[in-house]
Amino acid sequence: MSLIQLQELSKLYGFGDATTLALDEIDLTIKKNEFVAVMGPSGSGKTTLMNIIGLLDRPTHGNYTLDGRSVARRRPSQQAKARRDRIGFVFQSYNLLPRLNVLDNVALPLAYKGMTPVRRQKRASDILEQVGMRDREYFMPHQLSGGQAQRAAIARALINKPSILIADEPTGNLDSTDSKVVMELLADIHRRGNTILLVTHNPELTRYANRVIYMYDGRLVGDESTAIGNMAKGARRIYYEKRKVTDDEITAGVSALLKDVPGKEMASGPKRRKPRRKKRSARKTRKTKSR
Ligand code: ADP
Repeated sequence: MSLIQLQELSKLYGFGDATTLALDEIDLTIKKNEFVAVMGPSGSGKTTLMNIIGLLDRPTHGNYTLDGRSVARRRPSQQAKARRDRIGFVFQSYNLLPRLNVLDNVALPLAYKGMTPVRRQKRASDILEQVGMRDREYFMPHQLSGGQAQRAAIARALINKPSILIADEPTGNLDSTDSKVVMELLADIHRRGNTILLVTHNPELTRYANRVIYMYDGRLVGDESTAIGNMAKGARRIYYEKRKVTDDEITAGVSALLKDVPGKEMASGPKRRKPRRKKRSARKTRKTKSR
């Protein structure tokens, strides 16, 4: 059975002339224990989709079924309960409370469950052990590296034992070493049976996923199954297309933009690099031709 099912799901922001169609009739089914990477350019609707799946926001139209139960139109208090029990969030900016130490940050979500402080701290300590952060329990957030802060944030996301983990650009602020540590942790959480939704701009990170969905202008434009360890084909194309842009193409793009700015037209089109002059005879030939 599907864990998450979206049917003709749309989200509009604003009204009148200022309406933005952030999601345009999305149909999507996600099964338990999938690791789904979500890719697409900025503004394509990835965060809006994650916020709706994570019950932080409501769709304007369409249905959302979570574990067989329709949730899109539930009362806010019911949605909050479903969110607390089922879904963990990890964000690019960690979102740790600066005045609480790591242990208290991680234990915080349990306070809403009416658990005693001793049990809360015991559970938080156990989860911190799982993410390799037990020795940083009493550190304040500002004393942590980016990778450590993100691991603490992941521990906090796991404290209520959610079945779904939504990670929106979790490595966006990290260097490659810390990114790897965080991604290996997500891979480990996936192996233990969780369903993971990962928003990323980095094609390399599709290696951790077994499915990649591609968004563009609020629509789902691609859906690819992929083997863990391999970069997804669509992501590979994005990766290489990015690298293929030449200096001439960039200059041509800039000159096209400048055409719209009065007084800034490029008189003679994009400048080209002078070809290297290697042979005397070649130079002579060019001179003769230009005459
Ligand atoms: P992505 O995560 O792919 O960058 P978003 O989901 O953040 O895309 O945004 C999708 C579209 O919805 C964008 O055009 C964005 O400007 C618009 N949008 C997102 N949130 C809001 C909001 N709260 N109010 C108005 N427009 C919004």
